[in-house]
Amino acid sequence: MRNLVEMIPGGVPVVVGLMLASLLLSSMVPIRPQMWLYPLVRQAVVMKIDYQTKNMLAQETPHFIIRYTPSDADMVAMVAEAAEAAYEPVTSALHYAPGKKTLILMHPDRQAMKQAYGWSGDASAMGFYWGGVIQILSPKAWMKNPSLNEFIATGPLAHEYTHLVLDHMARGNYSRWFTEGLAQYVEYRVNGYEWVTADNRLTGKLYTMDELDGDFDNLDNQALAYRQSLAAVRYIAEVHGEAKLTQVLTYLTKGEKINKAIEKSLGMDYGSYETMVNLWAQGNMKQYSKIAK
Ligand SMILES: [Zn+2]
Repeated sequence: MRNLVEMIPGGVPVVVGLMLASLLLSSMVPIRPQMWLYPLVRQAVVMKIDYQTKNMLAQETPHFIIRYTPSDADMVAMVAEAAEAAYEPVTSALHYAPGKKTLILMHPDRQAMKQAYGWSGDASAMGFYWGGVIQILSPKAWMKNPSLNEFIATGPLAHEYTHLVLDHMARGNYSRWFTEGLAQYVEYRVNGYEWVTADNRLTGKLYTMDELDGDFDNLDNQALAYRQSLAAVRYIAEVHGEAKLTQVLTYLTKGEKINKAIEKSLGMDYGSYETMVNLWAQGNMKQYSKIAK
């Protein structure tokens, strides 16, 4: 996934203009400089994607604008309902709501989604969040008999919308594992959905927090990296309480790095946190079993 700040659409002048305007208006709050620039770059990316897709069909809901192709005219009402169904649980879990309507692009097939904006993520994914915009695969492309309840429960909207809301709150100041853990935590809490496979048992060899904090997207066992991310977030919320998870989010919005945000919120060092997460996960999280499948 490309770094947002590296991608300056519309050329440098757009961002420089936004920066100067913002410099004049802002009182330079003491946050990391990239956190100050980040929302401007994201806003420029949204403007670019919005412009590029302006000729697509569109449906607006109270909090979303869904753009789609004629082949998905029969899907858009369902997607609109599912998006609105995700809005309240996600914004109340994160205690934050984005100011503007969120753009959702619906692609008719995997090929179209893969081509979208040079996306190079997991080919089996049903959607992704990048640069302030949610992109999803048409439910027709992966569901046998698309139904609203199934789409809400197993579709990508609660997950991707959580990525978006965190991105707005923390202005890019979070690690990949944390946003994946939080998105899965909200999906788990709201829809009871968990990604459990034979490859992501938490009883075998695990990644270290160092590895998760490092190059998350290039870890070989993505199923395990995602599962451990969920464990690390669930541990905070279920053992220390939801209020501590909110505190971690608050520290991120103030510019603390994720390890410091966790240390300060839980009153424990990062090494102990890692040990406790793994112990807790082994005893408390669902493990893959052939019988249960
Ligand atoms: Zn995700």
